[in-house]
Amino acid sequence: QVRTRFAPSPTGYLHLGGARTALFSWAFARHHQGVFVLRIEDTDLERSTPEAVQAILDSMDWLGMQPDEGPFYQMQRMDRYREVIARMLKEGTAYYCYSSPAEIEAMRDKARAAGLKPRYDGTWRPEAGKTLPSPPAGRKPVVRFRNPVDGVTAWNDLIKGPISFDNTELDDLIIARPDGTPTYNFCVVVDDWDMNITHVLRGDDHVNNTPRQINILRALGATLPEYGHLPMILGPDGEKLSKRHGAVNVMEYEGQGYLPEAMINYLARLGWSHGNDELFTREELVAWFDTRHLTKSAAQWDPKKLNWVNAHYIKTTTDADLAAHVAPRIRTRGGDPDAVDLLAVMALLKDRAETLEQLADGAMLFCAPFSPADPELQAQYLDDGAKSLLAAFAAKASDLAEWNTESLDGLIKELLTEHGVKMPKLGLPLRLAVTGQKQTPAIGAVLAIIGRERVLQRLAAA
Ligand code: GLU
Repeated sequence: QVRTRFAPSPTGYLHLGGARTALFSWAFARHHQGVFVLRIEDTDLERSTPEAVQAILDSMDWLGMQPDEGPFYQMQRMDRYREVIARMLKEGTAYYCYSSPAEIEAMRDKARAAGLKPRYDGTWRPEAGKTLPSPPAGRKPVVRFRNPVDGVTAWNDLIKGPISFDNTELDDLIIARPDGTPTYNFCVVVDDWDMNITHVLRGDDHVNNTPRQINILRALGATLPEYGHLPMILGPDGEKLSKRHGAVNVMEYEGQGYLPEAMINYLARLGWSHGNDELFTREELVAWFDTRHLTKSAAQWDPKKLNWVNAHYIKTTTDADLAAHVAPRIRTRGGDPDAVDLLAVMALLKDRAETLEQLADGAMLFCAPFSPADPELQAQYLDDGAKSLLAAFAAKASDLAEWNTESLDGLIKELLTEHGVKMPKLGLPLRLAVTGQKQTPAIGAVLAIIGRERVLQRLAAA
């Protein structure tokens, strides 16, 4: 059974890169009817916060990527890590190292002076036939992993292809600090092992950790997962995506009015493809997802394309669902979403909107309390000629058998012919009188939504 995991460090909000990593792990597990595990890597006590944990959970919830198992918290697994460290010490795959920080520094200097990579010199590493120094009194040791000293550690990366490291390049990693707390790479290893993770998809900033993790897993006799390292996301200018390029916090996109379906679709295309398909549902993503089509090269963030994808999802979302999304945004703006038939408003606006925020802005034409146009605008456009046209319109409108876009459009045409005028001559005063604004969506539809009673009242007032 396929088991994947997303293992964020809760040191801030969930950013776009993290969300994409989570998405691929989620989609891969779903595709194989496997299990998607959420693991919170909260051992960095100085930087981890409960708010950040909540932000991650909220973001995953919003995107609809619920874990099948977890969240697990590394801080709750400390006993288990200590148990594995004890076992490794006993089996000789790890050892106590009493070198002081000053001694370590001296070793590094020495290596550097010899033109070598700074490294631990193995003073405390047990070898057959070697007598170890006696531990200095009162000094607390670290625990180091006894890394192989010859050969290579290699894996066939699901994305990058074959990767290998000479074992001589890998130091004897510290797996427990002097106070006994386990280190980052070690916790990851124990977790991936205990959680039976079969596929690790993560950012390629972890490539250098992988050979160390593989060696520890081997020492534990664990089955190795497969690894796939995702290239990073670049901003439109080719630099690593960051705040400079706009919002990088997933939840900011919720605020800006993006639909989770659109985010999922767009994020999936950042580094993965399915032929020429740009638009696909969550179900299609799950059905199609594979690691073969993850791209080796870095993907580029493109806000215009995201807007295009979001516009598509807005168009294809039902009016009722859109209304439910937009109503709270109207309230935030001080409008009353129940003032009109909001579904009709959505139907009118959804073909042109790129975000839910734009929809809410547009809906305020109907949901904000009516305020007449500036006196200046009124003086300019509501002259006597315009007023008599509006009066003629009002007279006919009050008799209209049915009040809908079609009949109102018909009525407008009729009046234009009757009075021998062009559309702006009637349209502009109508808009101004009924909405207080010069520009609105198609006027017939706008009048239909505002309703006969209010339209006639406002015409009379004008
Ligand atoms: N906690 C790590 C991070 O947030 C991810 C570790 C992993 O996926 O192995 O970058």
